[in-house]
Amino acid sequence: MDYQQLLTANFLRYTAIASQSDAAITTLPTSQGQLKLGQLLCDELKALGLCAIHQDENGCVTAFLPGNRSGAAAIGFCSHLDTVDVSLSPEIKPQLIHYTGGDVVLNAKQNIVMQLAEHPELNAYQGMDILFSDGTSVLGADNKAAMANIMAALTIVVTENRPHGDIYIAFVPDEEIGLRGSKVLDLKRFKPDYAYTIDSCALGEVVYETFNAGSVTYHIQGVTAHPMSAKDQLVNPLLVAHDLIALFDRQQTPEHTALKEGYWWFNGIQADALNCTLQMHIRDFDKVNYQKRRDFVATAVAQIRKLHPRALIDYTIEEVYENIANNVDVNAAPIAKLYAALDSLGIEAKTYAMRGGTDGSCLSARGIITPNYFTGAHNFHSRYEFLPLPSFEKALQVTLQLIATA
Ligand SMILES: [Zn+2]
Repeated sequence: MDYQQLLTANFLRYTAIASQSDAAITTLPTSQGQLKLGQLLCDELKALGLCAIHQDENGCVTAFLPGNRSGAAAIGFCSHLDTVDVSLSPEIKPQLIHYTGGDVVLNAKQNIVMQLAEHPELNAYQGMDILFSDGTSVLGADNKAAMANIMAALTIVVTENRPHGDIYIAFVPDEEIGLRGSKVLDLKRFKPDYAYTIDSCALGEVVYETFNAGSVTYHIQGVTAHPMSAKDQLVNPLLVAHDLIALFDRQQTPEHTALKEGYWWFNGIQADALNCTLQMHIRDFDKVNYQKRRDFVATAVAQIRKLHPRALIDYTIEEVYENIANNVDVNAAPIAKLYAALDSLGIEAKTYAMRGGTDGSCLSARGIITPNYFTGAHNFHSRYEFLPLPSFEKALQVTLQLIATA
């Protein structure tokens, strides 16, 4: 079986169905495309002979392959059905280019060129076949490369009748907008001993540390008055918001932090003369520091209430996800098995703390240890996202090795 051909064919079928998530929609899934893609996956899982294939009302697809080898752990794989909305086209038109070096013309008609000078990471892939978008959208390797990987692994295991333990599969919607799918995934249908997501970038990447993440919404109600009689009367909610924002350290923001530093990020405001709604993200790898950041929100609001006693100021904090490492011992078997798989394939592990979250952040908090490994792609969430086929194939070999050693 030609693995690269199998992976590419899978990938092209899955990217042909547009499945961007939509943060403005409050019901799951947030787009019809995710349901349609889930239906296609159900059909393919059925054709492969998997059991307990199910698509629920939230769009979560689950399936089960009973083991044929005793003594193995039950392993799970999870990928997300949505692609991110970064204001590019929801339609994805991938192209396979044999890369011989230099800049890559993604779209001659619209003059979209990927400059080598801006993307020196291309240098490592000279002479290889690479999947690119047509420059008008992301490529969608995040996370359809994972889906293609998981389905290719199942195809190989089933058609070659390879030995394996129980395998649980989950395809969940709306990861990109707060891991909404993995939060509602029915764990009676997905009950492996441990699981993996395949949701990071370049060859060798391993992630078992993510942010702890919360979203804060502040509501500020001021007092309106006609300017002719506003003196000592009017309370401008915009200026109250301004004072509130000023209490947060300007160095602890996404643009001033890296590696394992946390931040506050004010990233939304809607206001008029009476009301102001303000949005902020809290992120920190460290659980204690995350709690301190949460506590500071209360302190800041108390201070602003004192400064503006006639304004009504309230806030809510939503817990979005937590660090996988809060719930996982670094020496845990699923992580050791992942390193062993990379090692046996001669792939150098590049472990890093992800300044974001994965479905594994949610699943680990729900009791299923779920580390994350590479798709093989670069530049997630960008029109310059690309996926070299040799790396894509390596990621599949990792999946096969994890199944073989479960
Ligand atoms: Zn992803």
